[in-house]
Amino acid sequence: MRELITIACTECKNRNYHSTKNKKKNTDRIELSKFCRSCRKHTLHRETK
Ligand SMILES: [Zn+2]
Repeated sequence: MRELITIACTECKNRNYHSTKNKKKNTDRIELSKFCRSCRKHTLHRETK
């Protein structure tokens, strides 16, 4: 039941990461603080399609 998702930087919209999430347990959009190579800093990354 794991779904592949894409994680995108909220500042430059770059899609930097891929991840999986449990669709049944986690129905909300995932938000993570990750390092963005385009922004050269840690930014908020959000699940996208
Ligand atoms: Zn960025």
